[in-house]
Amino acid sequence: MTADIPQVGQTNGESASPAASNFIDEVIQEHNRSGRFGGRVHTRFPPEPNGYLHIGHAKSICLNFGIAERYGGLCNLRFDDTNPVTEDVEYVDSIQEDVRWLGFSWDDRLYFASDYFERLYEYAVALIRKGKAYVCDLTAEQIAAARGTPTRPGRESPYRNRSVEENLDLFARMRNGEFPDGSRTLRAKIDMASPNMHMRDPVLYRIVHVRHHRTGDAWCIYPMYDFAHCLSDSIEGITHSICTLEFEVHRPLYDWILDELGVHHPQQIEFARLNMSYTVMSKRKLLRLVREGYVRGWDDPRMPTICGLRRRGYTPESIRAFAERIGVAKRDTVIDVALLEYSVREDLNKRAPRRMVVLRPLKLVIENYPEGRVETVHALNNPEDPSAGTRPVEFSRTLWIERDDFMENPPRKFHRLSPGSEVRLRYAYLVSCTDIVKDAKGDIVEIRCTYDPESGPGGKNADRRARGTIHWVSAGHAVDGEVRLYDRLFNVPDPADAPEGVDFVSYLNPDSLETLIGCKLESSLAGVVPGERFQFERLGYFCVDPDTTPALPVFNRTVGLKDTWGKIAGKA
Ligand code: ATP
Ligand code: MG
Repeated sequence: MTADIPQVGQTNGESASPAASNFIDEVIQEHNRSGRFGGRVHTRFPPEPNGYLHIGHAKSICLNFGIAERYGGLCNLRFDDTNPVTEDVEYVDSIQEDVRWLGFSWDDRLYFASDYFERLYEYAVALIRKGKAYVCDLTAEQIAAARGTPTRPGRESPYRNRSVEENLDLFARMRNGEFPDGSRTLRAKIDMASPNMHMRDPVLYRIVHVRHHRTGDAWCIYPMYDFAHCLSDSIEGITHSICTLEFEVHRPLYDWILDELGVHHPQQIEFARLNMSYTVMSKRKLLRLVREGYVRGWDDPRMPTICGLRRRGYTPESIRAFAERIGVAKRDTVIDVALLEYSVREDLNKRAPRRMVVLRPLKLVIENYPEGRVETVHALNNPEDPSAGTRPVEFSRTLWIERDDFMENPPRKFHRLSPGSEVRLRYAYLVSCTDIVKDAKGDIVEIRCTYDPESGPGGKNADRRARGTIHWVSAGHAVDGEVRLYDRLFNVPDPADAPEGVDFVSYLNPDSLETLIGCKLESSLAGVVPGERFQFERLGYFCVDPDTTPALPVFNRTVGLKDTWGKIAGKA
């Protein structure tokens, strides 16, 4: 199942393996040849602390930290905290935890754009002195109205030709809090006729009288992303500023600001953001799911957030392998969520210990097995890893089996238990169904069987084949547990693509969570701790949830055993 991993067509056939090179590697290698950065490679991951990280960010993290590792360079973690209205320390903390969990280290290079506020202010003053920035008294609406369209030039602001002295004075007074929110901005003086709308005298600073989670009330003017980002990169000596495709049209402004100021000038490189089927990736939409209670929180195992995937049972290794597999591309694409599932299945198959658990129990009594007798069978911990050894599992006269594994009137291809049929109980005996017990409503409550005493391990019929093998748990030894099964969070592949007037939440899958109580766990699962991962035989991979108590283990199904990705790829 690990062989022949299909290349994802959407990556232009580019492989992300360290040896091979994608278009970003090509740019870096060219710079290293030409000596543009003296052979240095220094990247950064620049999240805005306005939400939890998701799988798209994981791609960016793996890319930035991965490049630094490959070229013997460095990668900074920098919070792009220039918008105090939406930001919060809760996010600052979770982001650091998630990057660390993914397996990356920024060492002592943890930075905040807000730490540069004083320097950024000085850079703005320098632009004013050069005659390259001016204080504008137009409102946001007036600025928007005067911007023009891509085919029609904008109109110059009546404040555009203020003297340097007046601009310096007004900008200082903006900083001192003399003006209300939105009454003035600092704008770059570039070209209102530029075909690139971002070059039409973009706003560099705005007035916002809001407390910042780090600088408190020190500032009431805040730099815009385009101004803060390039200069933060420059201050940190970044060489390659890797960002998503939507910033391609911002690149001329990135370059303009650094060139006008004559400071260290990193190369901005854009790649296609990760989109994934059956989920949403916008922080605004994820925040809505949390705030309005459609999920239990940012770490709900159905969320595409890193903490959600962690709680679901994903391993950092599987997410990094996924990021490598999808590679980097120059065109926006949607990656099938089945590929992510494939990655975790492949990882857990190698290392998750196997256990027997019955999710929907049905009682099975072996009539010819002595009352009170208990045998111990030895079950393989991991057939993929002989060094994992075996564990003892109790076997007795009364067992739990899956309801699904019995049918009173089975179709011809049913290979499990039915009246008169024989199956093998995994690691134990062959049993044949002799009778069914029903309750007053006619529902089956118990299966009666006989067993072949010679069919167990070491017996003379040990190798006799049955039509099927089913798992079981000894009723007298079982531990009760809760198991949560998950399905796609949305019913449609692209919920973010809702037409006008359709709210994306209307695409939520009402059956995305199924909670099973009274599941029967083999006795070795008593005392599990949150984060432990197992394969429940025939049922999938499961991870112990933090809701677990000593009295009640709670599991999340990470992913089923069936590989839908292989199927999809096979068809392609
Ligand atoms: P916002 O809409 O709030 O700006 P964002 O998703 O761009 O959201 P940031 O915190 O600005 O969030 O992102 C940090 C870094 O992660 C940026 O470099 C951004 O380009 C990258 N990133 C964000 N989303 C994705 C994605 N889906 N795929 C790849 N990289 C992403
Ligand atoms: Mg962003």
